Amino acid sequence: MLTMPIPEYLSEILDNVRAHTSGEVADYIPELKSANPHPLAVALCTVDGHIYSSGDDEIEFTMQSISKPFAYALALQECGPTEVFAAVAVEPSGEAFNELSLDGENRPMNPMINAGAIAINQLINGADSTVEDRVEKLRKYFSELAGRELTIDRVLAESELGAADRNMSIAHMLRNYGVIEDEAHDAVLSYTLQCAIKVTARDLAVMTATLAAGGTHPITGKKLLDARVCRLTLSVMASAGMYDEAGQWLSTVGIPAKSGVAGGLIGILPGQLGIATFSPRLNAKGNSVRGVEIFKQLSDDMGLHLMSTEPVSGHAVRSITREGDTTFIRMQGAMNFSASESFLHAIVEHKFQGNLVVLDLSRVLTFHSVAIRMIKEGLKRIRDAGFEVAILDPDDVLPDVRFSDGTVCSQIT
Ligand code: GLN
Repeated sequence: MLTMPIPEYLSEILDNVRAHTSGEVADYIPELKSANPHPLAVALCTVDGHIYSSGDDEIEFTMQSISKPFAYALALQECGPTEVFAAVAVEPSGEAFNELSLDGENRPMNPMINAGAIAINQLINGADSTVEDRVEKLRKYFSELAGRELTIDRVLAESELGAADRNMSIAHMLRNYGVIEDEAHDAVLSYTLQCAIKVTARDLAVMTATLAAGGTHPITGKKLLDARVCRLTLSVMASAGMYDEAGQWLSTVGIPAKSGVAGGLIGILPGQLGIATFSPRLNAKGNSVRGVEIFKQLSDDMGLHLMSTEPVSGHAVRSITREGDTTFIRMQGAMNFSASESFLHAIVEHKFQGNLVVLDLSRVLTFHSVAIRMIKEGLKRIRDAGFEVAILDPDDVLPDVRFSDGTVCSQIT
């Protein structure tokens, strides 16, 4: 049975960042102050529903601000963009997440800062909804995205409410300008309960993959959001998801993202995959220190930067066919992380017979470094399972045919 090298690669990345112990757990929410700072997890979910994870991927933590893009998507889906844009703008604020600020039309600058998120929360389930009905609607919808029943950490929400002067001021400001109708207390209560929904890194990877896939759930195949809603949500995440670190983030990592003060961080690669990390120590901007490091490495290694000019292409595995004793795996397009993931998935699923496996690269355009590593590792595993392997590479697109154990892959012409 062939196994996947991706979880091993993810564990390596966790090992690389484990030594980063700078930063502090959020302390303005009393219950978070005593959170265990050590957990570390990373999870990926492709738009085809393949999940890979490593580390403390089953530990639950509260979503906090990571709930904002999902609530925004639900509001867009329920109310449509016109109503949503009338309440909250889509301009990056370059400000801290809890800034008391409005734009020239007295709207919060964007739905990723607290002012915008409190206003968006109020759009869910109609203006006259009770707090409990509104929060239940969000919980149910988040659960559907995660593929399991999520629960709310009411003790944590209670503790946050006891110290929520800042968010209360924001809610009063929003009420003063007619952005929300509810009592400030109820608006903050509703938003705080939304933030206190508990998830694991794996849940978040699955939830984000639905946004990556244009609204189709990667596992159930259910259409949960319009593609346009996902596009809008990702756009706002790209420009404002990392608050006053958003510009730096877009230049270095280049993935639409959202962080939460409990230590979660999500990123979405449109059309490819959802990524989630968990590590509670935060930098001065309120973003997870090790989470940011993991994303930097993934983005570099995997060639995930959105502004990358390297070509991307779908359907990397063109066919797997057998002719006599030889199995041909025909690849096509640009080999990036997603392409090598589909290759690895295909070979793990395939029942190989005969004695020779040929990887045909004649229609491959380019190789990204992570794809070289993944594809060679996949081939080596086929060889270690007892088959002869060879590559057909007439244009020499694979620059290095040496396996990780030093042996060389044979080539055929
Ligand atoms: N509930 C938190 C707050 O409103 C969420 C902030 C965050 O995760 N950045 O302060």
